[in-house]
Amino acid sequence: MRTCAGCSLRIEGEWEHCPLCGGALHGRAEPSPYPAVPLRFSRRRVLRVLMLSSLGVIVLSFLAQLLFGHEAESLGVLRSVWLGIATTWLVVLMAVSKRRNLAKFIVYLVVAAGGVNVYWDFLTQWSGWSLTYVLPILCSASIIGLLITVRLIRMELADYVVYSGLTVLLGLTPIVFLSLGWVGVALPSVICGALSIAVVVLLLTLRGGAVRHELATRLHL
Ligand SMILES: [Zn+2]
Repeated sequence: MRTCAGCSLRIEGEWEHCPLCGGALHGRAEPSPYPAVPLRFSRRRVLRVLMLSSLGVIVLSFLAQLLFGHEAESLGVLRSVWLGIATTWLVVLMAVSKRRNLAKFIVYLVVAAGGVNVYWDFLTQWSGWSLTYVLPILCSASIIGLLITVRLIRMELADYVVYSGLTVLLGLTPIVFLSLGWVGVALPSVICGALSIAVVVLLLTLRGGAVRHELATRLHL
């Protein structure tokens, strides 16, 4: 047990200075009596994954610009990319800070941000950029955010079902507008739909693993 020279406080745990007055400590340090409680997710890992995803999105945006050239220039590619990154960030940060109601939050986010852009498009002589580009970007970014969330935070099987359903919904929304003929260029909506299918397959694969693990534990395999 260490003792503070200043206030005579007796201190357990490995402190350099007195936690009360900051004074020097005497005596031998003892290990802390409290158990070290591990976090359910690693903040460093969250940040690393987000940084890598953001970088990936930026690289993809440059590739898209190369592929589509002048067509994409007038649409503010950079602005759309940052909208996508911001959406992914919001979804993951929301998931990390408050797990419940994540699905509802994503629906509100897509409807609100999509609605503002459709109205903006309407005000600036409707050319369909909001439905052609912004909506698929919002939906794809939310799907990527969901995928990162599922990889970072341990979830119950019911959550996988909810998030799989939401992923299908997010992938279908741009496809619905595409089939209505309200979309100028098909590719962004098609990419969003394909991403949604890929992520649902991945989620179901992950869930399959969880089910197998559960069975193996119960049956002592
Ligand atoms: Zn002290």
